[in-house]
Amino acid sequence: MFGAVLALLLSAVVPDGSEASVTNAACQGSDIAVDRAFDGGAFAACTIDVNGTITLDIRPETLPINPSPWYAVRLNQSGARERRITLRYADAHHRYAPWFRVAGGPWQRLESYPVEPGRREVPVYLPAFAGEAWLAAQPLVPIDGVASHWAALASQGTVSLDMTATSTDGRPVPLYRHGAADARSIHVIATRQHPPETTGAAAFDAFAERLLAGLRGRNCPDHALLFAPLLNPDGLARGHWRTNAGHIDQNRDWGRFATPEISAVGQRLEALAGQAQIVSVLDFHSTRQAAIYVSRSAGPRAQSFASAVEAATGMRAVRTRAADGDTLKSWSENRFGSESFTVELPDSASPAEAAIAGRVIADLYLAHYLCPASGA
Ligand SMILES: [Zn+2]
Repeated sequence: MFGAVLALLLSAVVPDGSEASVTNAACQGSDIAVDRAFDGGAFAACTIDVNGTITLDIRPETLPINPSPWYAVRLNQSGARERRITLRYADAHHRYAPWFRVAGGPWQRLESYPVEPGRREVPVYLPAFAGEAWLAAQPLVPIDGVASHWAALASQGTVSLDMTATSTDGRPVPLYRHGAADARSIHVIATRQHPPETTGAAAFDAFAERLLAGLRGRNCPDHALLFAPLLNPDGLARGHWRTNAGHIDQNRDWGRFATPEISAVGQRLEALAGQAQIVSVLDFHSTRQAAIYVSRSAGPRAQSFASAVEAATGMRAVRTRAADGDTLKSWSENRFGSESFTVELPDSASPAEAAIAGRVIADLYLAHYLCPASGA
């Protein structure tokens, strides 16, 4: 059978950099086609058995790697029926409870076995659907949507394009500025270094929106904000677990500058630091437990901000030891003496929950860093 032969051929594809050679349907049954030819689409191989059950093999883009087993698949089914999908992991355990969306509908979280260590084969039952649908580790946010949102803010004059780096695959990596070009204090807010960490990205998006709204019409001291909303577009497009197109973890590349993305943004920050003080850095990520990381050696304002975030959101304020150098947080602390934080949203947060956390953190950030008097 054609589908089985194709699946066999595809299962021989090494996930290492071979994504571009894969064409549309990765496997096909009598009434369903399965593919990953869209931004974020990822699985290593698929098969469909005689009962119509789909098995997806989920493997990382490189090894060793942080276990963030991302998957995203598009289904196109000719008639309405329920469907079973088995998620099969080779180099990690089940971590992300599946989300499902039928074309034109909202994302919904599906029931699955509890997300816990030890699950390498997890059945997922899709409700009856016909036509196009998606199953993914987290709700998919189109890269184009992020890019066009920021381009629209720039065309409205809310922010301006500070610079654009170019990724390994040739995608733009923009840096946007809010505030005067000659501001003496600069604050950097970043996200999307690690593709599966969509809850952190959702918090960043809401944080930025709330911060920009909160600054409107207010007379706050001299500062500029630099937003990096899309640091790893290639990893997002390829559906990577962790790395960029060159299989490098970008948040271990600050100061090393082996990736074009981090190298260009890092050099821009170095240049700006020659004219102004990089006062604070906030980098949004996701992991199993919500946390805000702050260095033990950071000053009282940083400790107060982290404690306020903990009190308001329940995210644990984690005091870290001396900076290790390669993360955005550590590098900026060492290089610029900035007050730097890594904000980790929980994997399990819904987009709405992540957005609430982002807004709460924005209000606290405004009061601690941008308009201190407003908190009085
Ligand atoms: Zn991360």
